Amino acid sequence: MKVYKFGGASVKDAWGIRNLEKIVSAEKENLVVVVSAFGKTTNALERVLKTWLSGDNSYKDQLDDIYSYHLSVAEELFPSDNSGKSKIDVSFAKLEEYLSTSKKGEYDFEYDQVVSYGEVWSTIVVAEFLKNSGLSVEWIDIRGNLITDDRFRDAEILWNESSARIQNVFNFKGTKSYVTQGFIGSTIAGHTTTLGREGSDYTAALLANILDAEMVVAWKDVPGLLNADPKWLSDAIRLEEVSYREAVEMTFSGAKVIHPKTIKPLHNKNIPLHVKSFVAPEQKGTVIKSETILKHGLPVFIKKENQIMISIVPKDFSFAMGENLSRIFYLFVQNGIKVNVVEASAVSIDVCIDDDRTKVTSVIDDLKAEFSAIYNENVEMLSIRHYTPEAIDRITFGREILLEQRTRSTVRFVVRRV
Ligand code: ASP
Ligand code: MG
Repeated sequence: MKVYKFGGASVKDAWGIRNLEKIVSAEKENLVVVVSAFGKTTNALERVLKTWLSGDNSYKDQLDDIYSYHLSVAEELFPSDNSGKSKIDVSFAKLEEYLSTSKKGEYDFEYDQVVSYGEVWSTIVVAEFLKNSGLSVEWIDIRGNLITDDRFRDAEILWNESSARIQNVFNFKGTKSYVTQGFIGSTIAGHTTTLGREGSDYTAALLANILDAEMVVAWKDVPGLLNADPKWLSDAIRLEEVSYREAVEMTFSGAKVIHPKTIKPLHNKNIPLHVKSFVAPEQKGTVIKSETILKHGLPVFIKKENQIMISIVPKDFSFAMGENLSRIFYLFVQNGIKVNVVEASAVSIDVCIDDDRTKVTSVIDDLKAEFSAIYNENVEMLSIRHYTPEAIDRITFGREILLEQRTRSTVRFVVRRV
């Protein structure tokens, strides 16, 4: 069996879902189809959540807009069939009831209860359409099967609890394919969780691992993995093959085409990941796998924007490495911060992290007792895998370099525009 994953951009309108149907119906083998929320629905639901939490009733209008969007897609796809539409109505009514009756809990918890609906609605529409087109398909609610811990908004799978359930549910008895939600899961207690923004790729990888899939195909609005973001460097070139290791390095450095957590479950079972264009399904795309014969030899450029660099110095001027380093890292982990670059000298440590202001303020507060911490905001992290002098000149030109780090394969800069 195979796992196909369709992101929000590929299911943002009726055309996209018809296109999905063509791609799915061309597949001969058993299939699990993992789908994200339509278009920018997750962002829209985040706004509903914020409005609702602030006690402002205009969240109802925002939700109405999301409802109209889904209904218009459904009406275009199945004008004469009302069962799909009524399923959407029932699900919207459930969320409306939740919002009007629940007492508001913690932000992360409520986030998952509310924002997770995007994937429920998209999969209802997709599954109905595939059924109406004559395909053998079953809709699965992944909650109750993909079991996670209770770190809301960043939940981790519980393998033992999930494996048996998932193998049992996706058994292909009486059906050739399943449609299910990316991005969401639930705790053992039955509360909905989410796996982190853009987490549907990760869901696809988890299901592939548990079901021993032959491959995962992630259908995207790009022709595959490129050696740079084409919005940044317009001459970006598609990479035909990339190793798991290379893909992890790329996503860690900020390459956005696949979610960073996706690779590990695939690597562990040696399952290849194909990244392909949903508008040109006949084209090759990129395959990510263990053995790659093709050495592309191209520099790979990766940019991570919206970074902040913090320079930390022990107040007593003691050496930065050793005990201080472990204390500093402990504080970052405690605050849920992932460190993107670290560079240490005798008495100072520079770290570069995503500029999530609440977390940054909180960690600086925690550091204050023992360390002085000053920060540079509005910086970018630029990485080049397989760098050359020309490649470095190309992207550092006109920028002030605040930090530079080189290994044999990678060079990284923290820079500021001048
Ligand atoms: N819909 C979710 C998001 O936009 C998950 C995903 O697209 O992978 O973050
Ligand atoms: Mg999305």
